[in-house]
Amino acid sequence: MKRTLYLKFLSGYLVFGILGFILVSTVTHHGLRNQVEASEAHTLYTECTEIASRYALSYYNGSLELADLHSHLETISHYLNTQIKVIDVSGRIIIDSANAQALHQDLKIEGFDISDFGSKYYAINRFYQTFSDSQLTVFAPITPSYKVRGYVLIHKPVADIYAYSYELLNVVYITLLLIFLLAFVILLLFSLLIYRPIRKITSVADAYIDGDFSQKINIHTQDELGHLAAAFDYMANELNTLEDDQRKFVSNVSHDFRSPLTSIKGYIEAILDGTIPYEMQDKYLNIILFETERLNKLTSSLLELNKFGSHGKTILYMKSFDINYIIRMTALTFEGICSEKHISIELILSGQNLYVTADLAKIQQVIYNLTDNAIKFSHPDSLITIETTEKNEKVFVSVKDSGIGIPSDSLKKIWERFYKTDLSRGKDKRGTGLGLAIVKEIIQAHDENINVISTEGVGTEFIFTLSLSKE
Ligand code: ATP
Ligand code: MG
Repeated sequence: MKRTLYLKFLSGYLVFGILGFILVSTVTHHGLRNQVEASEAHTLYTECTEIASRYALSYYNGSLELADLHSHLETISHYLNTQIKVIDVSGRIIIDSANAQALHQDLKIEGFDISDFGSKYYAINRFYQTFSDSQLTVFAPITPSYKVRGYVLIHKPVADIYAYSYELLNVVYITLLLIFLLAFVILLLFSLLIYRPIRKITSVADAYIDGDFSQKINIHTQDELGHLAAAFDYMANELNTLEDDQRKFVSNVSHDFRSPLTSIKGYIEAILDGTIPYEMQDKYLNIILFETERLNKLTSSLLELNKFGSHGKTILYMKSFDINYIIRMTALTFEGICSEKHISIELILSGQNLYVTADLAKIQQVIYNLTDNAIKFSHPDSLITIETTEKNEKVFVSVKDSGIGIPSDSLKKIWERFYKTDLSRGKDKRGTGLGLAIVKEIIQAHDENINVISTEGVGTEFIFTLSLSKE
């Protein structure tokens, strides 16, 4: 078996990690830089307007000396870690916080044009090539008497700003790494809690395919996997017993057919080669007849049972009929054998007529099989009682004898095909052990119940239910 499921999860995990890294180093990196840039520009702009409206304006109004303005700006620039300039509209530098000499020199920013900023209040460039590296420059106009006389400029090296965004990015990378580690722990847990049980189930399923049903999965968790494992164990058990049953069934059928056939063959050969003299032939022909009848009965019982497949419902021809009448008629058919064995059948029937809804032919067979058993396993000079009672829309039919009884450890097995108790073997050689299996199938097909109460050496009672007719 290939470990593809595990590989799929592992590669999914790696792809998740690689994609996460690519995402952070592109999208997050870019987004963070823009965010930090805009936020820094905004902070500096606030400072810039403050300087323009407070200090620079005072200078233009004449209330602040140039030298004082310079020293103010020097302090602020130091504090903000920036470079601050005051220029006039043509770009001539009036004050430069980084150059105290600018006050006395006639310095000009070549090519300065405020419209180069466009609609923004900041720009990122080398500011007319006056810097060797990229700067974030924000500006604010100085407007004494509502007329623009100059500008306050603040420069900050972009490298300083980006250093901050890199610090933030590092935090994101560390978080990503932690998520990656956490996902690995989840992967390990997945392997332990889900993947291993699945592997176990698959390997046991492979054993089942090879016909080895002895292996058990042994997962007892209260989740879907536990449920699946239990279902598998159950299925294996069922298949195992099914296979056993089938083997047993075939060997029983073969055995039951072989023994009469062997004796028939033996007797016929003996008759043909003269081993059995002519005058004895009648006796052995009767044995052959007996065995043939048994084979005939076996075949019809098997055919009957075959109709009750485990798949699909048996077709029943339901109709309303008088169960008392059927019991009376069935009892009559046993009159001959009963008088032979000095057995009497007592009928205790509820009312004159008792109508039930069922498949007449099949229920007649049930009564026939139960009465047949009762007679077969009764002692001579005993009494068999067939009784009907009516209770809660149900009719209870009981067939009771005081015969050999059924040992308690056989009580469950009597419904199995071909099962015969050791006690009964001596009393009945003709029996196939299929009669009660047929009875059970018929009663189950009717959705009714059948029960047996028996004491070894005392007697047996079979009771089954039927539905009372509505009309
Ligand atoms: P068949 O019905 O084909 O003639 P059978 O009677 O032996 O064969 P079942 O009717 O299926 O088979 O009964 C199965 C077994 O249950 C019997 O062989 C017998 O051992 C036991 N049994 C059934 N009915 C009684 C009973 N009334 N008293 C004692 N044992 C019984
Ligand atoms: Mg029987």
